[in-house]
Parts: sequence; C-alpha cells; structure tokens
Amino acid sequence: MAGIAVITEACIDTKDRACVDVCPVQCIYEYDPAKGLLFSEVEHGSGEIENTHVPDPDNIAIFGDSILYVNMDECTSCTACYQPDVCPVGAIYSDEHVPDGATQTRYNSTDPNKGNDHTFFIAHSRAVFAD
Ligand code: SF4
Ligand code: SF4
Repeated sequence: MAGIAVITEACIDTKDRACVDVCPVQCIYEYDPAKGLLFSEVEHGSGEIENTHVPDPDNIAIFGDSILYVNMDECTSCTACYQPDVCPVGAIYSDEHVPDGATQTRYNSTDPNKGNDHTFFIAHSRAVFAD
C-alpha cells in the first residue's frame, strides 16, 4: 500500500511527538527501555496507552528510545503526519517519497538531512516490530 508513513533520522533526539497528536489510529510508537515495550498513546503525554508491541531486540538496539517508530502494518496511509506543517524537522515521509540520496523530493523540504539516503528506515521501521 502506498502512502505508509516512515520516520527518518531527523527525528532522532527531536521527538517532539507532533505526529502522534495527528495520527488517528495511534500507530506511532515510542520505546520504553525500562519495560522493553513499544507503546502508543491516545494523545502524546496522556499516559493512556492505546497499543503495545514487543520490539525485535537487535533492531530496537540501533536507535532505542531516541526516535519514534511507525508500525507500518497499522498505518492507514491517511497522510496526516507527513503534511509539511506537522513535523518541525521534516522527518516523516510517505514510503514512496523517502529520499534515496539520488533524487530531490518536494516532500518535507526542511529536512536537514534532505538528500541523504533514508531508505534504510523503510526496512528498519518494519523490522523493529517483532510481534
Ligand atoms: S513530529 Fe517529527 S520530530 Fe516530532 S516525533 Fe514525529 S517524526 Fe519525530
Ligand atoms: S499516515 Fe496517518 S495513519 Fe499513518 S502514521 Fe501518519 S497519521 Fe498515522
């Protein structure tokens, strides 16, 4: 399915969770290292947990809790989170517009890492969710 959201490296250590608040299906997750769980909230900071998943240990170890993760199996491609005015650092792309380092894209043109190869994050987003 096209239009699935992918979070890329500009989110690292930014994580302001603006995307969480616009996602209608709570499919954007944070990692809780203490519990070893990925969790999504009804609204960011609400403490109301909507969904949890056990992460794949090898893949969650790469970025840990420094970045958020979209569960691509739950994303409905609604487009809300990758509208240009949502993510302050332009970290979210639809999967068919993730920059591969070869082409420039009009999506999220404020991404400071624009032009870098972010395609790694497409596979990584799937690999993080083990269950
Ligand atoms: S809005 Fe952007 S920087 Fe903020 S948490 Fe979402 S992907 Fe990360
Ligand atoms: S495209 Fe829609 S459903 Fe998918 S992560 Fe973004 S806001 Fe959520």
